[in-house]
Amino acid sequence: MDDDEDLDELLDEVEKKFCRNVSVAASARGGGTSEPGGARRLRNPVEQISSITEDIDELLEELVDEHGGFHQSEREKLPKEPRAEQKPPSQSGGRKCCPVFVGGCSVTNGVGTATSKRSCDQLRCISCDFRVLMFDDCEWDSSCDYLFLRNNVPDRQKLRAKLKKRRGFRAYACQCSWFSSSSSSEPTDLRVQPQLRWVCGKHQD
Ligand SMILES: [Zn+2]
Ligand SMILES: [Zn+2]
Repeated sequence: MDDDEDLDELLDEVEKKFCRNVSVAASARGGGTSEPGGARRLRNPVEQISSITEDIDELLEELVDEHGGFHQSEREKLPKEPRAEQKPPSQSGGRKCCPVFVGGCSVTNGVGTATSKRSCDQLRCISCDFRVLMFDDCEWDSSCDYLFLRNNVPDRQKLRAKLKKRRGFRAYACQCSWFSSSSSSEPTDLRVQPQLRWVCGKHQD
């Protein structure tokens, strides 16, 4: 036991003298540097380690300089895709409704989404290729038919012959089909009216 105490004292001394800011001294104590001369040898490995890490740092800096940085080489591994196609819709000249809604006058016009149900005011028919006309506070008379539309769209004045005033309603028509939205504040999803071949023709911001 006496020997151990002596060794501890010796190591403490060595610590104070040579290894002020090096943790190797602490681990050497546990590792058991048995001979007194061993403490002296501690210094060299520490110096070597620090000089090796400096060398590694320099080497890494050279590598980074030569290859233009690690981030660059990582980026080169990624597949090169044209970034133009990933532009947000607002920058590509208009937004489309999804889903597409139609509604009465109480429903706000605009770009419809699942969370923002607005009625589309940019409708186009993919069957007759006409723009869909809208008439606020109107509904179609029951006598309205395909031939009437065929002969009168897109003349708004002539179409009024078969429109009835109805507060809160909104009448829609292309050259081949027609629809009256009720005064309900809840708009109609066009998917539940499959006979209407109307799509959103894009909204300009
Ligand atoms: Zn729309
Ligand atoms: Zn049509």
